[in-house]
Amino acid sequence: MDASLLQEVPHRRFNPLTREWILVSLHRTKRPWQGKVEKVAAADLPAYDPTCYLCPGNMRADGAKNPKFTSTFVFDNDYAALLPDIPAFAEDESGLLVARSEPGICRVICFSPRHDLTTPRMSLDEICEVIHVWAAQFVELEKVDWVHHVQIFENRGAIMGASNPHPHCQVWANASLPVVPEKELASFRAYRDAKHSCLLCDYWELESRHRERVICENDGFAVLVPFWAVWPFETLLVSKRHFASLEDFLPGESQLLADILKRMTTRYDNLFETSFPYSMGFHQRPTDSLHYPEWHFHAHYFPPLLRSATVQKFMVGYELLNNPQRDITAESAAARLRELSETHYLDRA
Ligand SMILES: [Zn+2]
Ligand SMILES: [Zn+2]
Ligand SMILES: [Zn+2]
Repeated sequence: MDASLLQEVPHRRFNPLTREWILVSLHRTKRPWQGKVEKVAAADLPAYDPTCYLCPGNMRADGAKNPKFTSTFVFDNDYAALLPDIPAFAEDESGLLVARSEPGICRVICFSPRHDLTTPRMSLDEICEVIHVWAAQFVELEKVDWVHHVQIFENRGAIMGASNPHPHCQVWANASLPVVPEKELASFRAYRDAKHSCLLCDYWELESRHRERVICENDGFAVLVPFWAVWPFETLLVSKRHFASLEDFLPGESQLLADILKRMTTRYDNLFETSFPYSMGFHQRPTDSLHYPEWHFHAHYFPPLLRSATVQKFMVGYELLNNPQRDITAESAAARLRELSETHYLDRA
């Protein structure tokens, strides 16, 4: 591959997970960052907020009272998008008006009793505790016989629509395989059939030789800006070992995941010295009772910020009508993320 062409000539890049293309246009990419970096004053959040529906001991919307939890806390979402007990139906009129019922379970997981903590500011033990809850939820929901997919995801920051700064994530378990995992499953399968190998094992092997898109790693996991990244500072977290879900973790791997989550989110916060917004989530094998040897555990971070704490990337116009485009290359984004400190800016003297 001619790496210099990729930095000089507008081109398209292929995402082998979704088998879609993105456009890379380069009018302001080659030099390192020169724009003004605006900082936003750190929101001064209290450790406890009496008006927060996620803080320990507080009342929620439906009248339930949170326990005085001391580490994590899981509950069914009071405003669940999906409900478990609904009438089943399938409608199809001329193949044009097609609908099916979709049962599901939506839960909220509080990461901490502290209203003001975020992943990069939590201790490794505290993050490990969250990972154990994720794994327990995956296993518990997988046992519901109609649950075929479990999505664990975090929306962080008001810009991403997170309604509450209290550190938390969501779990949505539902009956059908959603669109993106369905595409990825087809790609994992097609790759395995063609090459008798794993798409993400091979991809990590390639990236670990090139190095230019790798941001950080430990013995269990690595984070990189994928070659086909759409969002300016999008990253992909991959396990180095081939396995398919949180259920398959070996002893010690939760600690390694906690380490990489803390380091990566610290880098993100340090990028614009702000509490960095993103949507992130794990992609794990489907949870019907079938076997998925082709699936490789990974997570995606999709951050909306472009060049400061206040300048956001919008997906509009050409991107809505055709395909996404980006104007900083994956390589330059990776270089910026790689050079950042893993000490949180708020912890510096
Ligand atoms: Zn709170
Ligand atoms: Zn693999
Ligand atoms: Zn994925």
